[in-house]
Amino acid sequence: MSSDPEQLKRDARHVILDLQQMKAFCENPLIICEGEGIHVTDIDGKRYLDAVSGIYVASVGHGEPRVIEAIRRQHDRIAFVAPLHGVSDTAIRYAKRLAGITPEGLNTVKLLSGGSESTESALKFARQYHRQTGNPHKYKVIGNYSAYHGGTLGAMSMTGLGGPRKNVFGPFLEGFIHLPPPRTFRLSDGAGDGAAWSDMRTAELLEHVIAQEGPESVAAYIIEPISNTGGIFVPSTAYFERVREICTANNVLLIYDEIITGMGRTGNWFAAQTFGVAPDILCIGKGLSGGYAPLAAMVVRDELHLEAFWGEPEQNIHFAHGHTFGGNPVSAAVGLAMIDVIEQDDLIARGRRTGEHLRARLERQVAELGILGQVRGCGALSCVEFVQDMATKQPFADDCRFGKRIERRLLDAGVITRCDPHWIAFAPPLTATVAQADQILDIFMRCVQEELAAMSLAIGVGRPRPV
Ligand code: PLP
Repeated sequence: MSSDPEQLKRDARHVILDLQQMKAFCENPLIICEGEGIHVTDIDGKRYLDAVSGIYVASVGHGEPRVIEAIRRQHDRIAFVAPLHGVSDTAIRYAKRLAGITPEGLNTVKLLSGGSESTESALKFARQYHRQTGNPHKYKVIGNYSAYHGGTLGAMSMTGLGGPRKNVFGPFLEGFIHLPPPRTFRLSDGAGDGAAWSDMRTAELLEHVIAQEGPESVAAYIIEPISNTGGIFVPSTAYFERVREICTANNVLLIYDEIITGMGRTGNWFAAQTFGVAPDILCIGKGLSGGYAPLAAMVVRDELHLEAFWGEPEQNIHFAHGHTFGGNPVSAAVGLAMIDVIEQDDLIARGRRTGEHLRARLERQVAELGILGQVRGCGALSCVEFVQDMATKQPFADDCRFGKRIERRLLDAGVITRCDPHWIAFAPPLTATVAQADQILDIFMRCVQEELAAMSLAIGVGRPRPV
């Protein structure tokens, strides 16, 4: 095995990464070898600030000794228990601990290994639940456009993103309907009439669609409480309350995909608590393990499980779904340690403070550059949307891919983040300090200014001013 950096770069052609043009990637591959706190280091020794926690995962940063020790201790005892036969003591302790931080009434946990397993499980749980409670025709699932729910075919069927990320895999499963997502800014995906599509209009449409489809055919409504791929729009509490009301009235299970928003990201353990409205099924992943092991979970209301899946042996009414690595004891040990670390260090409050600081600075300084569309977010999840003209909110041309240009510059300057052509997300680890957020923003502002200056020279757009 080679440790020669140049050989490793050549050998990168043996892997396929997520949604990457591998030929282009292999010309200058990002090979990360080490991490410490909110920094990662590549194979050439270049250090990066991680402004998006890997991809909303590394919420306690890298090299956290309490999590690493928990992994060691669990490895010394047992590393695998087959969920087809039994469960480890650690997985039981973890499920109970997790139930202690989820919204009230959601205490029944299916442990899994990744976000897509979680949303796929929620879909199957909802369909089987209705089948076993006298509603065999309730199978349709409603979701929102622009939402992402995972890479497996069921999860993709619920996903509301169009484009090559989805369409190359069609046809999809039957019975999936999408609504325009709740938003408070302009629409950039062609849904609707181009005006702001308010969150309450989405709720009204949900009621209308359930009525038109026939409530007896609708199993569930799945939403990301704050959709990352949808642009980090924060709906109102009234939206969640109305959606809850509509779902309850129609016996439609409400599923929150909190794979990004869970585990402290929105300023509470879950967005369900941030908005004060609980779902029937909660999907969690990413920050659940902070990246120290593959770990996800589907958490359901106890009564749903008791009603449909808790019976005498001769009834054989189990949830007919599982994955070999679900409930893995090492992953469960990581999950327990993550909750401990977040609590002991009061990281949710720290993430909230850093997030507020980030948003205030973005609001002020991007406006000074004359390209502020909107700053959005809550807790430790933030984004800024760019426009070419602040008065008319006219966006930069799609083919200019302004955000992607910034992403490239940031990477060169040693900051990893997640950019859309029109906006950029900031979600550093919950451990990030205000000083580290400032470091990220100093570099970001410099990159934006440099890009505006370059574009101004090339095509005459943007009005760069000194920061
Ligand atoms: N749901 C949301 C909101 C996500 O962001 C993701 C992944 O990015 C998933 C589901 C799928 O999770 P995974 O990639 O762990 O399968």
